[in-house]
Amino acid sequence: MTDGKAHVEYDRENCIGAGACVAANPDWWSIEADGKATLRTSTFDEAKKMWVLEIDDADVQKHVDAAGVCPVTVIHVYDKAGTKLV
Ligand code: SF4
Repeated sequence: MTDGKAHVEYDRENCIGAGACVAANPDWWSIEADGKATLRTSTFDEAKKMWVLEIDDADVQKHVDAAGVCPVTVIHVYDKAGTKLV
C-alpha cells in the first residue's frame, strides 16, 4: 500500500468459518456458501496471497474489532503509516 490509506489483509484460505468477524462487524463481513467469511469489496493480492481492502480511518476500529475476535488470526489491520495494528 503506497497511497497512505489504512488497509485490511485477510487470509481467507485459513478461515475456519467461525463467524466471529461477522458478529463483530456485519457491515463488512459475511459468511459465504463455502462456509468461509468474505471481506466485502476486497480484492485478491496474488503476491501476498491475501484479500486486501483499503479502508477509511473512521472504519479502522471496526476492522480491528473483527480481527481481534478471529480465533485463527487470519485478519490483519494496518494503519495508514503501514503499522500493523492487529
Ligand atoms: S472470525 Fe476468522 S475464522 Fe471466523 S469466519 Fe471470520 S475470518 Fe473466518
